[in-house]
Amino acid sequence: MTARSWRTAVVYGVVCSVTLSLAVAGTTKRRHQHGAHVHGTATLNIAIEERTATIEFISPAESVIGFEHQATSAADQNRQAMALDLLRNKIGSMVVFDPALGCSFSPTKVDVMQQDKEHAEVHSTFAVSCHTPLAGSKLHFGFAKIFPAIQTVNVQLVAATQQVGMSIKQDKGELEVPR
Ligand SMILES: [Zn+2]
Repeated sequence: MTARSWRTAVVYGVVCSVTLSLAVAGTTKRRHQHGAHVHGTATLNIAIEERTATIEFISPAESVIGFEHQATSAADQNRQAMALDLLRNKIGSMVVFDPALGCSFSPTKVDVMQQDKEHAEVHSTFAVSCHTPLAGSKLHFGFAKIFPAIQTVNVQLVAATQQVGMSIKQDKGELEVPR
């Protein structure tokens, strides 16, 4: 996969999520739109190459940590650290590969990026290494089980030959890795 195709996938994901958020605006009371992010809606980019994958997960901090102001108090810092640990440790229960593939996950980046005074995002990347090639396998999702505030995850998956995308709501649905 080239850097260009990754960028195309990311841009497509952004356009897609904007369209989706417009479509659902007003249907959920807690939904709150500000600039690029919508609370309750996260983005998942997956790049697959044979037996390995790179996962990028971006979410409004509110949906993972519970707040978006800068964590200055000890209580907020503790809450933030616990949420980020949960993300690091449970990513394999949120992006669920077929257990038969023998995949292991390792976080390469888990950060809070302050957007402005009121909004922040969690940006994270993970390296996935599996015993068996991933083509043709099915992916399931478990975000809402770990972080109940995450209602929707806009997924873009880029494999060697093609890219596929879908919007996962409340963890429902599956995505097949293209052959
Ligand atoms: Zn926000």
